[in-house]
Amino acid sequence: MITYHDLPLGKIDHCQVCGNKNLHSVIDLGHQPPCDSLLWPRQLDEAERVYPLRFQVCHDCSLAQIDYVVAPEELFFPDYPYRSGITQTLVEKLSRTALATLERYPFAGGSLVIDIGSNDGTVLSAFQKRGMRVLGVEATNIARLANESGIETLQAFFNEDLGDQIIASHGPASVIAATNVFAHISGLGSIMRGVSKLLVDGGVFVTESHYLLDLLETVQYDSIYHEHLRYYSVKSLIRLFDQYGFTVADIERIDNYGGSIRVFAVKGRNQAVSPVVREMLENENKAGLYGTEIFDRFADRTRKARRDLLALVLDIARRGERIVGAGCPGRASTLLNYTGLDPSLLPYIAEQSTSLKLGLFLPGKHIPIVDEKRMLEEQPEYVLMLSWHYAAPIIRNLRLKGLKSKIIVPLPEVHVIEN
Ligand SMILES: [Zn+2]
Repeated sequence: MITYHDLPLGKIDHCQVCGNKNLHSVIDLGHQPPCDSLLWPRQLDEAERVYPLRFQVCHDCSLAQIDYVVAPEELFFPDYPYRSGITQTLVEKLSRTALATLERYPFAGGSLVIDIGSNDGTVLSAFQKRGMRVLGVEATNIARLANESGIETLQAFFNEDLGDQIIASHGPASVIAATNVFAHISGLGSIMRGVSKLLVDGGVFVTESHYLLDLLETVQYDSIYHEHLRYYSVKSLIRLFDQYGFTVADIERIDNYGGSIRVFAVKGRNQAVSPVVREMLENENKAGLYGTEIFDRFADRTRKARRDLLALVLDIARRGERIVGAGCPGRASTLLNYTGLDPSLLPYIAEQSTSLKLGLFLPGKHIPIVDEKRMLEEQPEYVLMLSWHYAAPIIRNLRLKGLKSKIIVPLPEVHVIEN
């Protein structure tokens, strides 16, 4: 058993994939609160916990990671305000997980598909429509919404024990999906052992995670937060899966969350491998991902983006003009806490009227989250686009709703869109 895959809470002193202790520090984003721990008004009178947020890389297996584990109960609390079904583009993107999997691995109808971190059941409902039996595993109260909409969902964290229970109650699975959670879970060993037991031989474990190369090239320092313990390269994933007898058989680059990879790992060694896997390794090598320069450049660009944004916002404030935030994804917390913007500079963040985050406050900086109607009414001179990784469709949408403000896109380089 590989003991270093089951992380204790607190400081990590080794690579989360290969165990190497010789890690290279890339950038320190300071102590920050967990990004999705939005605050209720009454919590503004209480102390707030912050944790180190440092980004580092292992040059042996090319995994990037943060070096501190916050208790999952604190990160993914029962009222976790994120719901995947909420934006139509995201629903479509998540449905493609099912299509992409079944195109490659056409399991018979009635085969069991399990989704780890199944949220409101969006991914599973796409599998269900194609005749699969489905079971969700979701730790937060969003599990109830999934059950109400007909996707059987266990409210729990997935681990080896739960895997044993599911085999007993539902039998083995042909597909296990983990979209946008596989980089989040501290009990990586427990998950891998559980998945390995639950899957039939030749069964496929499909994961979707942020892609390290995209993060570096488009300066997405704001996607670094405590929920994201690992930032995978293809090389590091092959190393990880090999340790559990899986073959990384195919990979797709997808644009979810500003650049992700969908990885198909088949249970069993020496399975057929798509040429894409070799090509992606070559591409990583060519891009310099296995060297140090690309990481140094990322750190420099991150610091520059912070300085430029702060300078621009201070300038706007000095001129007596108004600026507010638009969109409050988890990454907004890293960006605003690192940049140092608070309500005196950014009086509120506007979210769409259906958002579960309205009435709450950004952790650390205590910026209120309000209905976007207020922004549309006030028409401030500037709007800071915090969901900048989806900027184009969001800006189109806001213009359609009548927003006339100039829009500041904070990354990869700060720039202003006049109209
Ligand atoms: Zn490593």
